[in-house]
Amino acid sequence: MRKKLLLGNWKMNKTLPEAIEFAKGTKEISDLAKKNKVDMGVACPYIDLYAVKKIVKKHLIVASQNVSKDDHGAFTGEVSIPMLKSINIDWSIIGHSERRAYDAETSEKCNAKILALLNNNMTPVYCCGESLETFEAGKTKEFIKEQIITGLNGVKAEDMPRVVIAYEPIWSIGTGKNASKEIAEDICSYIRKLVHDLYGSKVSNHVRILYGGSVKPNNIKEYLSEKDIDGALVGGASLSLTDFKGLLTSIL
Ligand code: PEP
Repeated sequence: MRKKLLLGNWKMNKTLPEAIEFAKGTKEISDLAKKNKVDMGVACPYIDLYAVKKIVKKHLIVASQNVSKDDHGAFTGEVSIPMLKSINIDWSIIGHSERRAYDAETSEKCNAKILALLNNNMTPVYCCGESLETFEAGKTKEFIKEQIITGLNGVKAEDMPRVVIAYEPIWSIGTGKNASKEIAEDICSYIRKLVHDLYGSKVSNHVRILYGGSVKPNNIKEYLSEKDIDGALVGGASLSLTDFKGLLTSIL
């Protein structure tokens, strides 16, 4: 009932020629995804968005990795929602742990961006996840609860079906140290329960929750077999066409 979603996150990788080459090679993958009713896409650096979108059109989701909450103004280095919309980009990752760590992105700041995206009929992919220290202290759930409640503050129930949530334990991102499928499912089902407590079962049954953290073609299937994991947010293994295709074929 919930459509699977595989979203690559290129982070700060791929020059424009590299991004174009990748995009040109995705037709077979996107056809296969469509045939099997899987949503697939990539979150690109700003510089690559226009060209990638022009090539893949509607066949793949193309997302930014961040966006400003403000429409315009004196915010050097920022990119706004109207700018994204002008090149037909309507998805954005919000609150990736790298931005939380290096750019002081708090859940309050994420919330303002999520509300701005939803007001513009766009789709936020809201990332949450705990540090190794929090995990080892057994405080994952209380940490995640704060991120979810603050991040979704003021989001209307009717906008929730467009929200995607990605659970990404920081200790498993780019480290090759995966959370087990049991841990991933435990937290993803907890997030669904939080959404249920906030919005009821119609919304919580609908909202897509992804797992992210060292997902590869050889381990993706175990995560996606879990009942509350609807897809994956994938960094390293979204950079080559071979791996990108492998993520899809591994779950078919
Ligand atoms: C990510 O960038 O969100 C991510 C999960 O990275 P990786 O798959 O490389 O761990």
